[in-house]
Amino acid sequence: MDPDKASALDKQDDLACYRQEFYLKEGIIYMDGNSLGLPSKRTEAALLQMLEAWKEHGIDGWTKGDKPWYYLSETLGGQSAFLVGAKPHEVIVTGSTTVNLHQLAASFFKPEGKRTKILADELNFPSDIYALQSQLSLKGLDADTHLVKVKSKDGQTLDEDEIIACMTEDVAMAVLPTVLYRSGQLLDIERLTKAAHERGIIIGFDGCHSVGAIPHEMHKWGTDFAYWCNYKYVNGGPGAAAGLFVHEKHLGRKRPGLSGWFGSNKEQQFDMEHTFTPADSAGAYQIGTPHIFSSAPLSASLEMFKEATMAAIRRKSLSMTRVMMDLIEEELSGYSFEIVNPKEDARRGGHVALMHPEAARICKALKQDGVIPDYRSPNIIRLAPAPFYTSYGEIWKTVQFLKTIMREKRYEQFENIREVIA
Ligand SMILES: *Cc1c(COP(=O)(O)O)cnc(C)c1O
Repeated sequence: MDPDKASALDKQDDLACYRQEFYLKEGIIYMDGNSLGLPSKRTEAALLQMLEAWKEHGIDGWTKGDKPWYYLSETLGGQSAFLVGAKPHEVIVTGSTTVNLHQLAASFFKPEGKRTKILADELNFPSDIYALQSQLSLKGLDADTHLVKVKSKDGQTLDEDEIIACMTEDVAMAVLPTVLYRSGQLLDIERLTKAAHERGIIIGFDGCHSVGAIPHEMHKWGTDFAYWCNYKYVNGGPGAAAGLFVHEKHLGRKRPGLSGWFGSNKEQQFDMEHTFTPADSAGAYQIGTPHIFSSAPLSASLEMFKEATMAAIRRKSLSMTRVMMDLIEEELSGYSFEIVNPKEDARRGGHVALMHPEAARICKALKQDGVIPDYRSPNIIRLAPAPFYTSYGEIWKTVQFLKTIMREKRYEQFENIREVIA
C-alpha cells in the first residue's frame, strides 16, 4: 500500500462527498469519531434553527415551528429506527445511555423465585456495571452475588459459547454490549438473543459502539431492549440525547419502571391527572421534559445516515479498518503492536484496537503530530476512521506517523500516564 493507492481508493469512494460537509481542522487527522463524532454544517444549521424557534415562538415552540418540541423525541425516535432495524414506534430519543439503562433495568429486571440474577460481562463499560449494581441494590439484592460477569479468556474479547453457558436458571436478565468498547469485538446479537429467550431470560444490548457504524435488525431478532448514545458514531454532539429501543411485544400502555409525565400518552399528558396513562410506544420510557438543544442536531445527522444508507457506511467502515490493519501489519512489525480487535468482518466493529505497553505516550506523540487517537487504559489505542469524513489518505498518514514515532522513539519525551479524560 502506498499513498497513490490510498488516493485511488479515495477517488472511488462513494461517500467522499460528505467529507466537505464536516468541520475538519486544517492539519488535523481525526480518528476519534467513536468517542465524539464531529459536527457538520447540517447539524450546526439544525441547532441554530432550534434556537431561532425559541426566539420566534417562545412557549409556543412546543407546538409550533417546523420541529415542534412536544413531538421532537418521537419524531427523532422514528427517524433513528432504521439505525437499529426497528419499527418507528419502538424507538425514542431521550435521556442518556446510563439513564436509559436505569430505566430499562427498572422496567425489565423482575427477579422472581430462583431467577434473581443479572448477567453481564467483565469487559463491560463501567457505567453500565454501576447502573446494574444499583438496580440490584434497589431490589434488595446483593450486587456482588447477583451480578454475574462472563469472563474473558484473553482480556479483550468474549466467547458467545461462554456467554450462553452462563445463561443459567437463576438469571432473569442479560445486558451485553453489541460491540465491546475496547477491543471493538462485535457480538452475535441474534444468536445471543435466541439463546437467552430459549432459557427464559430477558435480553438487552448496549449499542453505543455499533449504532451508526453497523446495521442491526433488533425487531427481527426479537431483542427485548437496547440503548445507545448519539454522540459517538451518530455525530449528535457532546451530550446528545440518547436512544432507546423497546420491542413491540413489550409495548402497549405499560407502566415503565421509572415513570414521569413525558412518558404519558401525548393526548392525556396535559390533563394533569394523578393517574398515569403511559404512551403505547417506546415513548412511555421517557421521564421528563426533553433536552431540545441536545436533540436538535440529530435531525440533520440522521438525515445524512438515511441518505448514505447503513449498508454503504458499514461497507466503507469495514474497508477502511481493513486497510488500516493491513498497513499496521506491513509498516509496524517489530514495534510490539498487537491488533486485538477480531480480524473477521463479521466480528469487528468500527474501530481498530491496537495494544502496546507504551500506548498512553504513543497517543500523546500522535496528538503532537496532529492525529487525534483515542486511548483506553491501560494499553489500548483505538483508531476509528469515520465513513463520513475520514479519507484513505489520512489512514495512510496516520500509520506513517506511528512508524516515525516508533522508529525515532519520539514517545519517550512523554510520560506513560493517561490524562484526566482519555
Ligand atoms: C460511551 C458509553 C457509555 C456512556 O454512557 P453515558 O451515559 O452517555 O455517559 C456507556 N456505555 C458504553 C458501552 C459506552 O461506550
